[in-house]
Amino acid sequence: MILDKKHAMQQKLFRQFAETEFTKELQEELDTTGAFNWDIHNKMAKYGFMGVKIPVEYGGAGGDYLSYVIMNEELSRQDLVLSIYANTSNSLGGGPLLLAGSEEQKKEYLPPVARGEKILVFGLTEPGAGSDAGGTNTTAIPDGDDFIINGRKCFISGAPMADWIIIFAKTDLSQKGSRGISMFIVDMHLPGVSLGADEKKMGIKGYPTSDVVFEDVRVGKECLIGPLNKGFPVAMKTLDGGRLGVAAMSVGLAQCALDEAVKYAKERKQFGRRIADFQGVSFMIAEMAADVEAARQMTYHAAELKDANDPEAGVACAKAKYFAAEAANRCAYKAVQIHGGYGYIQEYKVERLYRDARILSIFEGTTQIQQLVIANSLLR
Ligand SMILES: Cc1cc2nc3c(=O)[nH]c(=O)nc-3n(C[C@H](O)[C@H](O)[C@H](O)COP(=O)(O)OP(=O)(O)OC[C@H]3O[C@@H](n4cnc5c(N)ncnc54)[C@H](O)[C@@H]3O)c2cc1C
Repeated sequence: MILDKKHAMQQKLFRQFAETEFTKELQEELDTTGAFNWDIHNKMAKYGFMGVKIPVEYGGAGGDYLSYVIMNEELSRQDLVLSIYANTSNSLGGGPLLLAGSEEQKKEYLPPVARGEKILVFGLTEPGAGSDAGGTNTTAIPDGDDFIINGRKCFISGAPMADWIIIFAKTDLSQKGSRGISMFIVDMHLPGVSLGADEKKMGIKGYPTSDVVFEDVRVGKECLIGPLNKGFPVAMKTLDGGRLGVAAMSVGLAQCALDEAVKYAKERKQFGRRIADFQGVSFMIAEMAADVEAARQMTYHAAELKDANDPEAGVACAKAKYFAAEAANRCAYKAVQIHGGYGYIQEYKVERLYRDARILSIFEGTTQIQQLVIANSLLR
């Protein structure tokens, strides 16, 4: 796919921003401290990144899925974790409200999220319900006009900084599996909401992740998003869009691994020659280049289908996420290999790429869950 003028211009602007603002010092600081950086968050917010895909009437830029993909790719090409800063509001955070929220809810919550003034996160996973998210144990029991929430969500990206969380909780205990689950937006500062410890992660350090615990948290019925007991399909639909974002991040990371490998292979000399001149090395680079391009085209194609509301879009997103995440891991592996011992040392960027890449085939549906979605679409 060849980008039209508008998207090519967006690509240029996102690339310029990331190359200028995501300095080596900033990236190292995030990786070393693991702490959220409000300065870069505020700068990205000022440029409208948090609302790229949120419609104009709710304070965003009203971009399409292709714009969203291009943003994720370009930001991740410099730094995966910083692409996550701009991703949540546009996908898992804003997504459920756009899909199922009332006009009043969209007007209340989306504008401050699009402006980056508030952080909205997504809480689906639980200790006993990961890939099988229908196994949700968190409950929201009706009590007059209110609901009382009890349970624990785990691995919640951005929870320590969040103002609000979208959660999924069982509202009808008589219904089995993924039925009887409803979706709520909960103020993180309500009595009974608390955080687990920050997780010590392998990669994507600098965007804290923790559990969120709910103990007799009382919310009004205005916090219910969408119809009662029908929240689970919205979670699944939201994840389609989220997967596209992760596919785009994977393309960016894979491209970065390729760029670093090419640069190093041309500089490094062994046996009196550039290592790029050894076929064993050059073939690894050729494989990486083909992986990057295939992943990019699959991701852009899935974005086009999403923009066209095509019924095949969901499966296309699963294919793109599956392929691009695995391709990013292959590329990060080869980039380290091409750097030899230096690739194992933190001073070289590929060491972090290798650690960061690992999450891409795990969150927002593991590689095996994408394979299930793809296989089910063919074998049903
Ligand atoms: C850093 C990080 C950030 C995250 N952020 C969020 C967030 O913001 N919000 C949120 O809700 N969740 C979040 N998650 C959770 C993430 O989406 C889950 O970890 C993921 O969906 C997998 O669930 P699990 O860890 O329980 O693994 P499990 O479901 O226990 O899977 C373990 C293994 O079994 C395989 N497996 C499971 N079922 C099947 C099957 N049917 N067929 C074949 N293989 C199968 C899996 O592929 C995997 O290899 C995050 C996780 C991490 C690590």
